[in-house]
Amino acid sequence: RLEIRNLRRAFDGRPVVDDVSLRVMPGSVTCLLGPSGCGKSTTLRMIAGVEMQDTGEIYVDGKLICDTVFRIPPERRHIGLMFQDFALFPHLSVADNVAFGLKGAREEKRARVEELLREVGLARFIDSFPHELSGGEQQRVALSRALAPRPRIMLMDEPFSGLDNRLRDEIRDLTLDVLKQEDAAVLLVTHEPEEAMRMADEIALMRAGRIVQQGAPYNIYNAPVDKEAVAFFSDIN
Ligand code: ATP
Ligand code: MG
Repeated sequence: RLEIRNLRRAFDGRPVVDDVSLRVMPGSVTCLLGPSGCGKSTTLRMIAGVEMQDTGEIYVDGKLICDTVFRIPPERRHIGLMFQDFALFPHLSVADNVAFGLKGAREEKRARVEELLREVGLARFIDSFPHELSGGEQQRVALSRALAPRPRIMLMDEPFSGLDNRLRDEIRDLTLDVLKQEDAAVLLVTHEPEEAMRMADEIALMRAGRIVQQGAPYNIYNAPVDKEAVAFFSDIN
């Protein structure tokens, strides 16, 4: 499980993430939802360890991984990442892309790769190269790659924004299935209320660096905290 407490970050004296606390349980998806510039990606980057917080703590499965004095490097945090530019390595086969972060014996790695590619429905592409795949297929390979080392936490920053509408719905559903299967605690960033409504078990509504409302999608949609939240959700059709 992921826990962040009182995370803060300012740039040039301007608070961008302003006292954010969150908890995400294994097998569940929390959406960090809010307008452009409200601090979503900065929050994710601090959890990933590629940005340093000014104050606050981050815990994975109850273990401190980062505060203001102690800091486990990104590659040792057991956190999977999937960002918008999920770029696969073009010179590596699908199998080698998925196996990239894996350690261990060759046969074990191959078995894990096969398992994941089956889960995302791409077993037949195991020896293909990225340029032979469609955008949606590449996305699914990227998901497999991120999940291969069995991360306890999965951070996703607008991972579906490069896809066309029809494909996006499909990939969202498949992604949810696979994430649940793998039992990761998922923090998904989006500025689209519709995506949060579709994917989240819990929504954290963020505005100007702060979480202004948190709860089940249905509750947030039906009882927005204020006029601004009403307006933000009114885009959904
Ligand atoms: P979007 O939905 O557009 O991706 P976001 O919620 O992810 O927005 P962030 O990327 O977290 O927003 O940025 C929040 C604010 O912090 C923005 O105003 C951005 O310009 C500023 N910011 C982010 N990183 C830095 C940095 N390294 N230096 C200075 N300002 C930064
Ligand atoms: Mg962002």
